[in-house]
Amino acid sequence: LNEGQILPDQPDIKIINRQINGYVGFANLPKQWHRKSIKNGFSLNLLCVGKGGIGKTTLINSLFNENFDIKDNNNIIPEKPLDLANEDEHGNETDEGLHSNVKIETITKTIEENGVRLKLTVVDAPGFGDAIDNTNAWEPIIKEINSRYDQYLDSENKINRNLNDDNRIHACLYFIEPTAHWLKQIDLEFCSMIHEKCNLIPVIAKSDILTDEEIIRFKERINKQFVERNIQTFKPPVYKLDDKETIDVANKLYESLPYAVVGSNDFVTDPTNPEKTIRGREYPWGIIEVENESQSDFILLRDLLIKQYLEELHERTNNVLYENYRSEKLINLGIKQDNSVFKEFDPNMRQEEEKKLHEAKLAKLEAEMKNVFQLKVSEKEKKLQKSETELFARHKEMKDKLTKQLKALEEKKHQLEMSIQSQAQSSPAQPKKKGFLR
Ligand code: GDP
Repeated sequence: LNEGQILPDQPDIKIINRQINGYVGFANLPKQWHRKSIKNGFSLNLLCVGKGGIGKTTLINSLFNENFDIKDNNNIIPEKPLDLANEDEHGNETDEGLHSNVKIETITKTIEENGVRLKLTVVDAPGFGDAIDNTNAWEPIIKEINSRYDQYLDSENKINRNLNDDNRIHACLYFIEPTAHWLKQIDLEFCSMIHEKCNLIPVIAKSDILTDEEIIRFKERINKQFVERNIQTFKPPVYKLDDKETIDVANKLYESLPYAVVGSNDFVTDPTNPEKTIRGREYPWGIIEVENESQSDFILLRDLLIKQYLEELHERTNNVLYENYRSEKLINLGIKQDNSVFKEFDPNMRQEEEKKLHEAKLAKLEAEMKNVFQLKVSEKEKKLQKSETELFARHKEMKDKLTKQLKALEEKKHQLEMSIQSQAQSSPAQPKKKGFLR
């Protein structure tokens, strides 16, 4: 209202605070919500990245008490068509093992515990860090994350949306080698590419081979390198209404990153109770218990990932990481983004967005088809060239053969003529026979 503006007479407004007599039921809303989540089940799409043999499978099995064999599954998505594997775009053979050849493999299992279901998808990137030259080893992984975002964007724009199937990556476990030294170039390169794409949770693998002192110093160095490179690891959010205990837990979980973890597929006798077996690693000098908080950060990882912050990992993926990807993509397509919280739904704008997205998809498809076409044409051309050269060679061979034959025949003819001539000279001419009829 402008200052000095005279208001028409207003009736007295009384605000009545009414006590509800009897039970209405909305107090039960959180419980209903909770029950619904339990009924629908939870989901987690977890990306695991690290060198082969660093302990990824063992840690996943230890975390979910399962027997995943992420190396032995059928969902392998080869990066290139099989007949073109080990060939570059020019058809030349590449040095296998020298340059990185990262594949993407996924495995999904539904795990149930006390009636609560968790659909767990593990996305593995075999080949990462295994080559001599690991430049751009992150590329196929980023491509995978983007294509999962694109798929979600597509389903968001469909009229019959089915957003229950969320295939976006909710967290990335990055396995650091237990060198007790510094992060390597490949670690820094990967983490700086990934941290704005998905929630990054770094872990120091096989930390049982390091002493407590080494772990502390290694963590300090890693965090220093992360700060220098502006790499953000996942930070459990703290809300205004959180109590001190919750805030302390969130801070501890954040400050303990990267988690020094230990995994094991074996069960050993519990040192405190010979009747019980526990997940652990048995050494001549003693037992390392996977779930013993004083021996590793395994419990912290499980708390962050499953017990305490599963929902927050989903929320950040959706509200921050995916939203950034989405608006960047739409801006690139020339669609203006309004990031205000209370944006109104504008059907024309939505239609425009859908049209542009559809056009972009078509253009991408066309480009891909052109590429395949080019590839096939150049393959065919190569084959034709080869058979043309073969044909020329055969033609030349035949021609040479025929020339030889012709030469031999002419030689023979010449000899015959010579012999006829010499015969004619040696015998006198015969008188002509007279005919009987005249
Ligand atoms: P992946 O190729 O990254 O999946 O590695 P695996 O999980 O198959 O582990 C490779 C080897 O490392 C196996 O022999 C495991 O027993 C061993 N291993 C796995 N986790 C640990 C660990 O925390 N500590 C130690 N010392 N060895 C481990």
